Amino acid sequence: MHCVKTVNYAIVVNGQTTQRFDAAKGLRQGDPMSPFLFAIAMEYLSRLLIGLKEEKAFKYHPKCSKLDITHLCFADDLLLFSRGDLESIKILQRCFSEFFQASVLQANLTKSSIYCGGVQMESYWAQLFIIPIKIIKVIEGLCRSYLWSGVGYVTKKALIAWEKVYCPKYEGGMGLINMKVWNTAAVAKLCWDLANKEDKLWIKWIHAYYIKGQREWKMRKHASWIIQKVMNAQKIVEQVQQVQGKGKGMIRKLYCHMKGEQHRPTWTCLMFNNAARPKAYFTIWIMMNQKLATIDRLAQWGVAVDKTCVLCKNADENVEHLFMQCNFARKLWGRLLSWIEQQSTVPLTWEQFLQWCIQHGKGKSSAAQMFNIVLTEGIYGLWMERNSRIF
Ligand SMILES: [Zn+2]
Repeated sequence: MHCVKTVNYAIVVNGQTTQRFDAAKGLRQGDPMSPFLFAIAMEYLSRLLIGLKEEKAFKYHPKCSKLDITHLCFADDLLLFSRGDLESIKILQRCFSEFFQASVLQANLTKSSIYCGGVQMESYWAQLFIIPIKIIKVIEGLCRSYLWSGVGYVTKKALIAWEKVYCPKYEGGMGLINMKVWNTAAVAKLCWDLANKEDKLWIKWIHAYYIKGQREWKMRKHASWIIQKVMNAQKIVEQVQQVQGKGKGMIRKLYCHMKGEQHRPTWTCLMFNNAARPKAYFTIWIMMNQKLATIDRLAQWGVAVDKTCVLCKNADENVEHLFMQCNFARKLWGRLLSWIEQQSTVPLTWEQFLQWCIQHGKGKSSAAQMFNIVLTEGIYGLWMERNSRIF
């Protein structure tokens, strides 16, 4: 502590150091030195607590004796474990006051709590892994609202179900993650860790108290639900290991296995290597999922609107008309396609249009990439023109 209190500084001005001056206020919060000093100070406490092993009167917490755990430190959080008898707690207290006298560091009582009943060890491990379903729903709600409405609060508006959005791109989704499945996969990964990595403290702890060297993991009724969940994933982990082997990316392997295979639409080739602008990309994605809010669909929802196409005013609006049959669209496509020297013309029906897009947009050739950009931006351009005439 002497070094902390008697610190002085010199400042470099134009390459020259000034005269040294004392730091009257001592070390302040935010000083880059402070975490290091804190770690050194906590090491002192840590050694005091490890020394408790030698004290006959000190009794371990019942779930800590096998691994000699008296405390766990994470940054400036400190967890102390002992049996709940007066003598052991007095000894812990004594360690603390010795530490206080040496360092003048004191625990903030308003932020400290005592847990009794042998539960704290398990709930400490438990906090490390599972995200409650409710929290996942809130997070997904916020992501959904941001995607569809660009706002930071939960709204109900969405053209495409969230289950579809978080599908991988090859299944016609946006390639986001299904958080619930991912979280389950992460828990299963912990199960894999349990079987394969024995050097971590929490793994040693579960082995010492629950697995106890058995090959078949028998479930202990008194184990907390999180530990049961982790251990229950053993079957899935074995299945995935058999099919995909061990090695890196275990969570992803487990995730793909748990998520299961979905139907793969034929048009997803348009969504890979597509360098169009994100808004255009998003629009063609909605269109390919047949969810664009054209007037025929609005009418189906019971919205009273004028059904005429705003671009040509000659026919009723639907996707086939707006993007394929409308004179306005055909003129635009004619110019765009001749610009990229594409000889074919846009078909008139949805099914033919899909085949035509896939035929020209598939693969990694520069012609296919160019076709995808022009197609995507063309559709976006038509959609924006149509919207600007309506709104
Ligand atoms: Zn039209």
